[in-house]
Amino acid sequence: MPVLLDGKKIRDEILAELRPRVEALALAARTPGLAVVLAGGDPASAIYVKNKIKACGELGISSVHLTPPETVTTDELLAMVAQLNARPDIDGILVQMPLPKHVDAHRILLAVAPDKDVDGFHPCNIGNMVSGNPGPRPCTPSGVMELLRRYRIAIAGKRAVVVGRSDIVGKPMAMLLLHAHATVTICHSKTVDLAAECRRADILVAAIGRPALIRGDFIKLGATVIDVGMNRLDTAAQVEAIFPDNQEKQQEFLRKGSLLLGDVHPLETAHAGAVTPVPGGVGPLTIAMLMANTVASAEQRLGRAPVP
Ligand code: NDP
Repeated sequence: MPVLLDGKKIRDEILAELRPRVEALALAARTPGLAVVLAGGDPASAIYVKNKIKACGELGISSVHLTPPETVTTDELLAMVAQLNARPDIDGILVQMPLPKHVDAHRILLAVAPDKDVDGFHPCNIGNMVSGNPGPRPCTPSGVMELLRRYRIAIAGKRAVVVGRSDIVGKPMAMLLLHAHATVTICHSKTVDLAAECRRADILVAAIGRPALIRGDFIKLGATVIDVGMNRLDTAAQVEAIFPDNQEKQQEFLRKGSLLLGDVHPLETAHAGAVTPVPGGVGPLTIAMLMANTVASAEQRLGRAPVP
């Protein structure tokens, strides 16, 4: 059976290492501060934000939670970001995506000061990542790198395949694996014969958003499989399509009202070398890396402007 890569365990390790750094900052009267902007009432975003705020509280990071209404304009959000940029007690600014459709998300992203961009999405920080300069890295891919590092999974010289090319997961994931000396292939919806591409992978990262798309025959014997996908199955028919005649899954669905599923078929990974579960794999690491980026930002600011 594959090694189960326990994201919660690694998250706890990362947070335990951050705690003394937060305490040291607090002693220097420089408690790290994170501002989270949640525009509108998207329920999934509200849960993500709640978890981020909770993590701040547990770690001793102070947080500011701004909740402009769905009707907020681009200009109003720009003004909000400008105020946060100017606040000395704020080290990180996170504007939760997706923004309401009428808002120019690109302009908002550009407005966040690069040294407070704890998501690592600002073009300056993307440039830093591509050229290997210091700077915040996008949280989900850097969480995956931490997971691989802490489980001592070799990357250099290995063949890595990343399925998905989004700006927040797929592309930065591929770049970080490249910097760690993997030979990287990026696949997407136009890839011809996805299964054959995936079968070459020593490290396969699925960041697609399609439940159980990656089947057993996509996975090479002994490969490390990282499942970034978080998909909710809301109907019994969806559950039946993926788990035909599977009483256990049907009952789990009835009990919970929905099933959370990754992009990798969870019953077809027995021949992999290591896998991340969903939930409990990559998800917990994303928030841990957000905390790490916020602490690093506060430390940098303290270094630049010593406390009197
Ligand atoms: P996007 O929708 O932005 O990107 C999905 C990518 O998958 C696209 O590049 C798309 O290709 C590709 N794709 C779609 N269908 C196929 C297919 N049939 N074959 C091959 N490639 C395909 O999603 P995100 O990157 O934002 O997120 C991906 C998943 O990761 C989602 O389930 C999301 O919920 C989850 N996620 C989890 C996080 C965590 O903390 N665990 C954090 C962020 C995301 P193309 O570019 O050609 O359209």
